[in-house]
Amino acid sequence: MTTAQQVKTLTHFIGGEMIEGKSGRYGSVYNPTTGDVIAKVPLATVEETREAIVKAQAAFPKWRDTSVAKRAEVVLKFRNLVTDNMEELLQIICTESGKTIDDARGEITRGLESVDLAIGAPHLVKGEYSVNVGGQINAYSAKYPLGVVAAISPFNFPIMVPLAQTSMAIAVGNAVVLKASERVPMTALYVSELWKKAGLPDGIWTVVNGDKDAVNELLENPIVQAISFVGSTPVAKYIYETGSKYGKRVTALGGGKNNMVVMPDADLEQVANAFIGAAYGAASQRCMAISTIMPVGEETADRLVAILKEKIAALKVGSYTEKDTDFGPVISQQSKEAILAAINKGEAEGATVVCDGRELAIVNESKGFFVGPTLLDHVTPGMEIYEQEVFGPARNVVRVDSLEEAIQLINEHELGNGVTIFTNDGLAARKFTTEIDVGMVGVNVPIPIPVGYHNFAGFKGSRFGEGHMFGPDQARFFTKTKTISERWVTNTETASTFAFPSNND
Ligand code: NAD
Repeated sequence: MTTAQQVKTLTHFIGGEMIEGKSGRYGSVYNPTTGDVIAKVPLATVEETREAIVKAQAAFPKWRDTSVAKRAEVVLKFRNLVTDNMEELLQIICTESGKTIDDARGEITRGLESVDLAIGAPHLVKGEYSVNVGGQINAYSAKYPLGVVAAISPFNFPIMVPLAQTSMAIAVGNAVVLKASERVPMTALYVSELWKKAGLPDGIWTVVNGDKDAVNELLENPIVQAISFVGSTPVAKYIYETGSKYGKRVTALGGGKNNMVVMPDADLEQVANAFIGAAYGAASQRCMAISTIMPVGEETADRLVAILKEKIAALKVGSYTEKDTDFGPVISQQSKEAILAAINKGEAEGATVVCDGRELAIVNESKGFFVGPTLLDHVTPGMEIYEQEVFGPARNVVRVDSLEEAIQLINEHELGNGVTIFTNDGLAARKFTTEIDVGMVGVNVPIPIPVGYHNFAGFKGSRFGEGHMFGPDQARFFTKTKTISERWVTNTETASTFAFPSNND
C-alpha cells in the first residue's frame, strides 16, 4: 500500500525553476506495475500556461543571438548528462511507464540520436549565398529561429519523443515549451534539471504540466509559433486543425496500425521471432508496433500461426524489476479495460482466439495494469480490432491470398505509420516498397523506425501537416528562411527606376 507521504506533489518547470501548480487541479501518476498512485501532477490553468509562454518569449532573443556553435555546445553537455545519469533516468522511466529496463535503455539511446543530430545544427542551418546577382547586389538566404515553439508529447516514450521534438528546436535557437504527458511527467521534470545543469539559459526549456487547458492555450496563444505534437490520431487531427486555424506551423503525428506481410518464401522461424518482439515489446504500446501479421496463402498462415502459438505461450509478462520479463503492464486501468474489451469484441465479431492474454493469473490477480499476449486469427477488415488502433498486446492475423491483396488492404486502411514485408524475393519487395502508401517501410526489418538522422513520420491518419519528427527536416521545421539582398556601392549617384527590377546590369 502506498501511504499518503509517499505520493509526491510534482511541479512545473518555468523560468528555470520548479514552480508549484496554482490551479488546485491535479492528475494522478501511477506506477503501472503496482497500480499505486506515486505522484500528483499539477494541471496548469490557462493563466499559468500564458505566464510560462511569456517567460519563454523574454528569454528567446538572447538565445537566438547566442552563436550556433555555443548553443550546440550546451546540447552536447546535455547529452553527456543524460548518459551520466542513465541509471536514475531508467528508474524514473520504468517506474512511471512500466517498461522493462532494456526497453527504456533502448528508448534513451534512440532519443539521444536526435540530440546528436541537434549537436550538428551548425551544419544544418547553413544558408545559401549568391554574389553579384545584379547591380552589385549579393543575395543570401539564412535560417532564423521561430521564437517560442511548443511540443506536446504522449505517454509511451517519456524521453525519446520529447527529445526528438525539442533538441533541434533548442539547438537552432528557439525557446521550447513542452506539455509533457500527464501520465509520465517525472521524466520530463528530471530532464529539465539536466538542461539547467548543461547551462541552458532559464526560459529556453519549459515544462508546463497539464491537460486540455494548457494545450489549448499553446494552440491559441499568438506568441507560440509552431506546434510539434505526437499522440493519438483524433487528438493529432484536433491539434492540427486548431493550431493551423491560429496561424501556426503544425506537425501532428498520430497513431498506427502497422502490418507485417509474410511471403510464402520467408523463413517463418525468423519471421515469428521478429514479429513477437515488434508486436509485444513495450506491451505493444509503440506507435510502430506491429499490430497485424498478414501471411500470404493459407499454408503460410497455418504454419506461422502454429509457431507463433508456441512462442507466445512462453512470453513472460511481469515487473521491470524482474530480469527475465519480456514486457510489463499497460499504462492505466482504463487502458487495460479498453484492450480487454477490444479482445472480447474481436471474438464476438468472429475472430479466433489463438493465445488468450485475458486468462493469465497476473491479469486477474495483480493490482498492476497487466494484459497478457493475445493473438486473434481470422481477423478481417470491418472488425473493430482490425480498424482501430489497440494500444496493448492484442495482435491480429489477417490471412490474404496474394501480395496484391495485402497491398490493397494496407493502402485502404485509415492509418499509415509503419509497415514491413518479410521475403527473400527482391521483386516482391520492390513492388511492395513502390506501391505501399505508408510513411515508414521495412524489408525484413521488424520495426522500420528510421535512425535519428533520417526523417520520421507516417502517412494518412498517422500524420497531419507535413513536417517530420527526427531527421534533418527538424532544422527546417523549427526555422524560417529569410532571403536578404544587399548592395554596397562606392558610386553614390542614384536614380529612381520604375520598371520591375530585372537584375540584368
Ligand atoms: P494522447 O493523444 O491521449 O495524448 C497525447 C498528448 O495530448 C498528451 O500530452 C495529452 O495530455 C494531450 N491530450 C490528450 N487529449 C487531449 C485533448 N482532448 N485536447 C488537447 N490535448 C489532449 O496519446 P497518448 O495516449 O498519450 O499516447 C499514445 C498514442 O500516441 C498512440 O495513439 C500512439 O500510436 C501515438 N504515438 C504516435 C507516435 C508517432 O510517432 N506517430 C509516437 C508515439 C505515440
